[in-house]
Amino acid sequence: MRYEDERTDGRKMAEITLDEFHEEASAFLDAHARRRSEERFVWGEGSDAVDLFKEVSPEEEEAELEAAREWRAVKFDQGFGWITGPEEYGGRGLPRAFEWHWQTLEAAYDVPDQRFFGISLGMVAPTILAHGIPEVRQRYLRRLHRGEMVGCQLFSEPDAGSDVANAKTRAVRDGDEWVVTGQKVWSSGAHYSDIGEVLTRTDPEVPKHQGLTMFLVDMAAPGVEVRPLRQLTGGAHFNEVFFHEVRIPDSHRLGEVNAGWKTAITTLMNERASIGAGGVVDIKLANIPQLVETVRHLGLARDPVTRQGLADLVVKARVLDYTNQRALARVRSGQAPGPELSITKQALSDLMTSTASFVATVLGPRVAADTGEWGTYAWAKFVLGMASMRIAGGTEEIMKNIVGERVLGLPKEPEADRDRAGRRAPVPTV
Ligand SMILES: Cc1cc2nc3c(=O)[nH]c(=O)nc-3n(C[C@H](O)[C@H](O)[C@H](O)COP(=O)(O)OP(=O)(O)OC[C@H]3O[C@@H](n4cnc5c(N)ncnc54)[C@H](O)[C@@H]3O)c2cc1C
Repeated sequence: MRYEDERTDGRKMAEITLDEFHEEASAFLDAHARRRSEERFVWGEGSDAVDLFKEVSPEEEEAELEAAREWRAVKFDQGFGWITGPEEYGGRGLPRAFEWHWQTLEAAYDVPDQRFFGISLGMVAPTILAHGIPEVRQRYLRRLHRGEMVGCQLFSEPDAGSDVANAKTRAVRDGDEWVVTGQKVWSSGAHYSDIGEVLTRTDPEVPKHQGLTMFLVDMAAPGVEVRPLRQLTGGAHFNEVFFHEVRIPDSHRLGEVNAGWKTAITTLMNERASIGAGGVVDIKLANIPQLVETVRHLGLARDPVTRQGLADLVVKARVLDYTNQRALARVRSGQAPGPELSITKQALSDLMTSTASFVATVLGPRVAADTGEWGTYAWAKFVLGMASMRIAGGTEEIMKNIVGERVLGLPKEPEADRDRAGRRAPVPTV
């Protein structure tokens, strides 16, 4: 039953006040989930895992995805699955402040891990909403937000990462369809996704940004091949995705033909917003008590150099928290996520790099070889995994370029693919 149906006072949901929303959301959460118990870090107790990305077996992943889907369906049906979304597509049509408030409330409850939907709802769904035709929005948005479907991002290629506009995966028109051939890489979650947002080259004769077109592809379509990639840490979140003459209906084009760069920007702005802001930061702040106890356990609590290093991390974590809040305040006041969100992504990656370096210094060989000592070797996954934070959603160097050019107004960096007259060279396709 939709949440609106349950209201007896006849008012539209959009007229609800934040206080009323708080009451109703809290009542829903109390009825459907257990409140998290106050977690205090005690050395030697419970799990010592400090993984950045949860790494589980394929069977465990499937079970967790199922639980995550069930929770999404319950909250969607009660009106908490897409709080800001237009009502015609199953959303509640409420301001962003309500969504933010919901996230804060939900974080206090022990609910199934929602990591599977980060890209799907943080990037793919907003792009469908902004660039899909009404039929496509009707078909996918409700199902994505209800967790019946998951979407992945298919931008990066072996030769197009930071320079994503260099994409060579070719799409050729054939009547009402497009035939797609090429390869994508680093495609997070492609192995459990139902649809993918794929950036293709439709005109190889024009400068690179002008010949791109974005599509929504059915991951089960004939010719789509997903191969897992194993990471340093042992897990396999990423995939290579190969397209062997995959047919995509023209209705599944996101934006105009050869205007795919504009569509890509919508996705990338949402990506940076979802990586830099929100819950991620809380998790990292929570590592501080664990670091303090690690230092005590190692007998370094009085060592001035260690104390200075720890203090630096606490300061960085606080600055990140405040920067994050500033960026969120902009979003909460109804403004679109802007380039300044690149600062929070950058600050997060800086904090993680410093944490990994600090922990590797204090633990020494314990982080490289497992002695069985609680709370020591467990950091190895963090140290190995954090490198991805410096790359995902735009590398540190690219983020610095964006901040320099778009926030500080500095001159643009020289672009190697422009000729003396400032023209860009076309990109050959596969
Ligand atoms: C955890 C994670 C998840 C990801 N998920 C996805 C996904 O779901 N879908 C997807 O499409 N992609 C995904 N990616 C890929 C990611 O977007 C790319 O890895 C990233 O854009 C960098 O591209 P690249 O790896 O090709 O490195 P390159 O672009 O080859 O960069 C190599 C090095 O050169 C530097 N460099 C490049 N250009 C410049 C420049 N102009 N100025 C200064 N330095 C420069 C970079 O900073 C980097 O240090 C993911 C990556 C990670 C780590």
